[in-house]
Amino acid sequence: MTATDRQCFEAEVRKRFDSVVELCAELIRIPSENPPGDTGGIAALIETKLSANPAIALKRVIAREPAVNLIAKLSGRRPGRRRVINGHLDTFPVGNSAGWSVDPFGGVVREGRLYGRGAADMKAGLAVAVSTALLLAEHRDAFTGELAVVLVGDEETGGEWGTRYLLANEPDALGDAMISGDAGSPDVLRFGEKGQLWIEVEARGKATTVRTCTSARTRSRASWGHSDGSSSCGTSPARSRTESARRSSRRGRVRNSSLGRARQTRCRRSR
Ligand SMILES: [Zn+2]
Repeated sequence: MTATDRQCFEAEVRKRFDSVVELCAELIRIPSENPPGDTGGIAALIETKLSANPAIALKRVIAREPAVNLIAKLSGRRPGRRRVINGHLDTFPVGNSAGWSVDPFGGVVREGRLYGRGAADMKAGLAVAVSTALLLAEHRDAFTGELAVVLVGDEETGGEWGTRYLLANEPDALGDAMISGDAGSPDVLRFGEKGQLWIEVEARGKATTVRTCTSARTRSRASWGHSDGSSSCGTSPARSRTESARRSSRRGRVRNSSLGRARQTRCRRSR
């Protein structure tokens, strides 16, 4: 891309700022909480947006319902390296709705900020990914190689039916370099990922109640190493069952997953 191309491209990006925010709001208005992990609705909206340009090829991949994965491909003017923009369509659950000051699925803008479930994690990143593909589709002569936008339907509960499945089964999900717009923090740019480490800690004492507490901050670190600013205590029934199964099958062991994202420490305490 020449310097002139780059200047034109950056000007186009700035002009589309408001449309990116509006797209993010649209994405927030489609629930994709995981569990249960139904990403069919949000995938359909993104398919509609990307199909506006016939140069973008779309493919749905479903490893396990209801998690829908979506791969979009776009070729430049001649063969070259393949860049992947990866993101996830699912979000953490809303949790206790009484704790929200706005409708979590409203996509509300207040005082210059967009609020809603998954606004940062990571529907803003999805809006940028979709907008990037659409913009590059209008400037195919300005780049070489191929762009793949790989959006997965299962990330928040481990990624087995999302990125892990695609890397093992879909060559289109692979590339020479990958960018993820998942929000670690507005101030942090990360290179690489660390993998997932589950640790179980047991304490002995006089038990009166047994309580598990996982803050959203801790769980965010577990998935992509970030916090979206929300907090919750306790787990949903589905998540509790999953974690109970993990505890029983891995008691006393530390497991290092090949796919997962970061470190999570689970504490079980008696008091
Ligand atoms: Zn995320």
